[in-house]
This record gives sequence, structure tokens and C-alpha cells, in this order.
Amino acid sequence: MSGRLEGKSCLITGAGSGMGRAATVRFAREGARVVACDLDLDAVRETVAMAEAAGGRALAVRADVSKESDVREAVKAGVKAHGRLDVLYNNAGIMPAGDHSVVDTDEAVWDKVLAVNVKGVYLVCKHGIPELLAAGGGSVINVASFVALLGCTVPQDAYTASKGALIALTKSLAVQFGPKRIRSNAICPGPIETPLLSAWLLKEPAEKAKRLNRIPMGRFGKSEDVVNLALYLASDESSWTNGAALVVDGGITSNYF
Ligand code: NAP
Repeated sequence: MSGRLEGKSCLITGAGSGMGRAATVRFAREGARVVACDLDLDAVRETVAMAEAAGGRALAVRADVSKESDVREAVKAGVKAHGRLDVLYNNAGIMPAGDHSVVDTDEAVWDKVLAVNVKGVYLVCKHGIPELLAAGGGSVINVASFVALLGCTVPQDAYTASKGALIALTKSLAVQFGPKRIRSNAICPGPIETPLLSAWLLKEPAEKAKRLNRIPMGRFGKSEDVVNLALYLASDESSWTNGAALVVDGGITSNYF
């Protein structure tokens, strides 16, 4: 049986950890050739080894998405290795501890979050979309967040603003490049049990219980919950899904009380 991504070449950022790692392994298992990018070369090599152990093909590339030269080289390396690019999966993102309300967040923290979470997506699209056009079309998947859709009394304003910007950018890309057979969609995950979240939230029982109480499905999400949606968006199954901001959050954003 052939995989759902057979013949596709997919660039995934932030592939050294969490959802990017899970996506790399799953996409490779579904027949994709993955260009797995991360800041941390050892981590992304480990991801590639996992993808290969699962019978897939992937290339490990060190790239800081906020640096244009790194992104340009990553795209080039991917095209050289796999001959084309069909999917840009903008997954890399940061949520630093110093990100609070606008009134008490340092300028350096704000700039860093926007540089990775928004400029990083701009750069991957700037260098990657011409390759998708050359391939005759494709799919751009931008990982936003449920926090772009709801206010939060425990603010992370730089992160929230960055994810809101991604939803807006996704819609602009959808309209610009839809006629050229490139669809662009955003995923808005709720809290997912990955290193990003576990580093603080899941270690503090009171904070964990407060958030769990808001989730109608009664559990935090798992990387697979998000990767299943990304797989649909990367595959031809989503050929008429364009410009959407798709929520995977166990019902949080539908919950009043
Ligand atoms: P994660 O476990 O922290 O993984 C993110 C990966 O991105 C890490 O390997 C990280 O490398 C890498 N990265 C950080 N800065 C980078 C840069 N400048 N260039 C390239 N790679 C970089 O996070 P995750 O939870 O899987 O999150 C993935 C995406 O989902 C993010 O965009 C996040 O904002 C979003 N999201 C997460 C949640 C959640 O609850 N986990 C909810 C909604 C949305 P290092 O480890 O070396 O920094």
C-alpha cells in the first residue's frame, strides 16, 4: 500500500523536537522525503534516524529560521537532495519564559519571538514558495495557536501577537497563491504535551490543573493530534482546503464555562 505523501518532498522546521519531530517521522512513514530543519543539528539528526528506522527518507539540516542565509541554504539543500519541494511546514516556534503582558515584557524578548515565529515563516515562504511554484503547486502549513483566537488572563503577548500574525499571513498567501495551485492553511493547536509546554506548565500541578479544567476532552493534546491534521493538509486529500485556520484543541475555544 502506498503512503498518503508518496512522491512529495516536505520541508519541516523545528524538526528536532515535539510536533516537528513527530511530523517528520510520520510524514516519512507516509512516503514523503523530508527536509528536517532545526537549530540543533544533533537533535534533528536524531529525528532523521527515527524516520529512517521507520522506513522513511529524511535529510537533516541545521537552520535558524530567523536567518535568511540559513533558510536559503536549507531550501537549496532540500531541492538538491529531493529534486523538488511540495510542502512547507512552518512548525518552528518559541515561547520564552520572559514573555508576559506588553507592560512587562522586555523589548529583546518581543523582538526574538517575532523574529522566530513570524519572520521565520516569512523567510521559509520567501525561499520555499518559488520551489512550490516550480513543482506546479503545493501546500503551506503554518503552525499558529489557539491563543491567537482567545484572550488569556495569563498573557504571553509577544507569542499571541506572533500567532495572530501567522493566521493573517496564511490568508494572504492563500489568496495570492491559490490560483497557482498552492494552498495555505494555519493550524491552531491547543496545549500539546511537548517539551515546549512540559518545560514549565506540566511541571507545576496547580497550573496544570487550572488549564486541564478548561479542556472539554479532559486531557492535553498529543503531538499526533496535530500531526494527523498536518498530514491531511500536506496530502492531496486537502486539495480544496485553502485559507483556513483549523483548531485542534479538545474544545477549549468552544468553552464558555
Ligand atoms: P518544541 O518541542 O519546543 O519544538 C520546537 C523546535 O523548534 C525545537 O526543536 C526548537 O529547537 C526549534 N527551534 C526553535 N527556534 C528555532 C529557530 N530559530 N530555527 C529553527 N528551529 C528552531 O515545540 P512544540 O511544542 O513542538 O511546538 C511546535 C510549534 O507548535 C511551535 O510553533 C509552537 O509555537 C506551536 N504550538 C505549540 C503548542 C504546545 O502546547 N506545545 C500549542 C500551540 C502551538 P531548540 O529546542 O533547540 O530551541
